[in-house]
Order: sequence, then structure tokens, then C-alpha cells
Amino acid sequence: MQAGKIFLLTGAGISAESGLSTFRDKGGLWEQYNIEEVASLRGYEANPSKVLEFYNLRRNSHGDVKPNAAHFALAELEAAWAPRGGEITLCTQNIDNLHERAGSRRVIHMHGELGKVRCHDCGDITAADGDLSLALGCAACGRIGGLRPHVVWFGEAPLEMDAIFEALAGADLFVSTATSGAVYRAAGFVAAARSAGIPTMEINLEPSDNAGLFDLARYGKASEAVPAWVAEMIKLAG
Ligand code: NAD
Ligand code: ZN
Repeated sequence: MQAGKIFLLTGAGISAESGLSTFRDKGGLWEQYNIEEVASLRGYEANPSKVLEFYNLRRNSHGDVKPNAAHFALAELEAAWAPRGGEITLCTQNIDNLHERAGSRRVIHMHGELGKVRCHDCGDITAADGDLSLALGCAACGRIGGLRPHVVWFGEAPLEMDAIFEALAGADLFVSTATSGAVYRAAGFVAAARSAGIPTMEINLEPSDNAGLFDLARYGKASEAVPAWVAEMIKLAG
């Protein structure tokens, strides 16, 4: 079998077994916060310190977590695919860096990255692992107080959509894993793949909101279901 081009979409569930709570799961982080207050432009404009504090807590807690078997398996797939003439596009909704830490080399973060900051005034993006505060200034424009996390908030446009749709249109297989299918635009990728005639599959703990749109589905914990699928794909590709 030819390796082909695979478009992979991952969501919060892939990091759940690493200890990062998902968006909607019971007992999750998001039950403890009002999303509108901490993850929207309106919330930031109303109370920037509170929003910076929320992401400082996230950033500090992410340092201790480690990639799990699902992240490692996707990195292994990427490494195995190129020598076989195939191509993997890994597009994640996650703002953590566990895919990179597992060894994935090319990751599209459509919802941004917790390890980067962006200047609200001039748009300059830099890597940063320290706490953000209103006392900090932008290295590019010098303005004080405008540094925000480089994450996409509710009501903001996801990043790299042109690259994403180009890769999606050219794919031979679309695989969605560990995402609820509730957050658009990512939730719309399966319909786009279908209308382009691309086979679709989901690997999730339980059927996602748009489970009916997938040709194939596998249900189980990401740390088991994803490595099992990757092992099969590598074996098939020979
Ligand atoms: P979601 O919380 O809406 O859905 C998580 C999905 O993962 C659910 O379908 C759930 O059944 C599944 N899941 C839970 N545990 C799993 C496991 N062990 N194995 C396999 N699947 C499992 O998350 P989403 O669809 O990614 O969308 C929510 C938004 O929240 C995204 O925009 C994302 O950026 C953001 N978010 C990111 C992180 C992160 O960066 N780690 C964490 C929470 C939320
Ligand atoms: Zn600036």
C-alpha cells in the first residue's frame, strides 16, 4: 500500500491522559472557570489581569506534564511516513506542546500556543515561558501592558486556515482524534473532507458530535487506540 497523504486533527482528549483536562469533560478545568471571562477578547478587555493569570496558571502546570503514548505514536507515524513517500499534516486544536515534545516535527497549532506571546498592539509574536503581566513591554514596539498569550479565544479566527484547507484538500485520508466535534471551525473539517471525496475516520473515547459524518470509527482511550492504529498503518505501508 502507498503511504499517501494523511491529514490528522487532534483535540484536547489526546492530552487528557497526560493530565491536562479537556474542555467539556466532567470535573474539567473549564467547569471551574467562566469561559467568557478567561477565553474571549471581551473577557480580556474587561479584565486583562485575570486572563493573564489564568494562562500563567496553565503555562506553569503544563511544564510538569509529559506526552503520552498517543503523542508518541503520531510522531512515529510522521517519521515513518516520509521515507515511504507519504506526508502527514498534523493539525492540533491544543495549545500545549506535547506533540512537539513527543517528536512531531511539523505541527499546525490552529488555536495558538501557550508557549508564545503576542503583542495586542503590533501583533509581534515571540516565544515566552515566563509569567505574563501588565507591567511587561513589547520588544518590538515598546508598548507596555499589551502582551497577551498567543492563543485563539472564542470569537477570534483560527490560525493558518489557508495552509490547513490546502493540506486537507490534497489529503488521501482525514483522521480526527480526541476531539468532541463541537468547536468550529475544526468541527467542520470532516464535512469538507467528505465533500472532497476523502475517506474519513475518527478515533475518540466516545462518538463525537458529528460521528455520523465519519466513514470509519474506533473508540477507546487515545493512549491505546492511536498507537494501535499507527502500528496497523505502518505495517500496511510495508
Ligand atoms: P473537547 O474538550 O471539546 O473534547 C475532548 C474530546 O476528547 C471529547 O470528545 C472526549 O470524549 C475525548 N476524550 C477525553 N478523554 C479522552 C481520552 N483519554 N482518549 C481519547 N479521547 C478522549 O476538546 P476539543 O474538541 O479539543 O475542543 C475544545 C477546545 O478547547 C479546543 O479549542 C482546544 O484548543 C481547547 N483546549 C485545549 C487543551 C490543550 O491544549 N491540552 C485543553 C483543553 C481545551
Ligand atoms: Zn508590540
